[in-house]
Amino acid sequence: MAKKKGVIRDIITLECTECKNRNYTTTKNKRNTKDRIELSKYCKFCKKHTSHKETR
Ligand SMILES: [Zn+2]
Repeated sequence: MAKKKGVIRDIITLECTECKNRNYTTTKNKRNTKDRIELSKYCKFCKKHTSHKETR
């Protein structure tokens, strides 16, 4: 069993910036990533790739 100590991974939700649907969840290390992340992902509602931003 190799348990990593001190790594805090929080589950975050990614929301399409165009239709505001929450399409994805991911995890991030809040120690390394203090800003809200933004990723280009395929949105099935917009039927194209859009920016997805972290929600709170
Ligand atoms: Zn969308």
